Amino acid sequence: MLTIALSKGRILDDTLPLLAAAGIVPTENPEKSRKLIIPTSQDDVRLLIVRATDVPTYVEHGAADLGVAGKDVLMEYGGQGLYEPLDLKIANCKLMTAGRVGAPEPKGRLRVATKFVNVAKQYYAEQGRQVDIIKLYGSMELAPLVGLADKIIDVVDTGNTLRANGLEPQELICHISSRLVVNKASMKMQHGRIQALIDALQHAIEHHA
Ligand code: AMP
Repeated sequence: MLTIALSKGRILDDTLPLLAAAGIVPTENPEKSRKLIIPTSQDDVRLLIVRATDVPTYVEHGAADLGVAGKDVLMEYGGQGLYEPLDLKIANCKLMTAGRVGAPEPKGRLRVATKFVNVAKQYYAEQGRQVDIIKLYGSMELAPLVGLADKIIDVVDTGNTLRANGLEPQELICHISSRLVVNKASMKMQHGRIQALIDALQHAIEHHA
């Protein structure tokens, strides 16, 4: 059995056509189903529906052989526990700092609210800036509006969410896209099958582009 961990939403929407091109079609719509394990058109391939931030955990521990996760999630997860053989070039966005439009730089330590605590620490450490990182789980845009933080670090696509809240994108930290990740033991034990899937996905990406 080959098990693939995916998260609902943007990544699932963009990954299903690539899997279909590789001959893997879920037997029911994962977006609508309440099931967390979904069989596919291939008897020996199944999908796991997990939270986006949990994909690397399932794959590193071998509960899933493969997964699809945003580079933002993978950077925050860290570690060397996974192979990342393929950039799927889907769910593209940018990891950015953002702050209130026209707000002056704070005099003291910068307070930065984000769910990407590890990424934020590394980013400011590289710049030699002392900052206080405030961990949030969502609605980061609110933090600068109510004085919880001076800036946020979040993924930005169109920037509409920032603008709707009086914020502006400021520094680009990096470009983000979704990546195929593979469990290290699975890559050895099921090399032929997994490599064939990687090749099929690669082919699908090039022909969708
Ligand atoms: P935006 O188009 O910038 O207004 O983005 C809408 C919301 O979706 C924002 O809250 C972003 O944080 C989030 N978002 C946009 N693109 C992605 C992505 N590729 N992966 C995860 N979250 C995203």
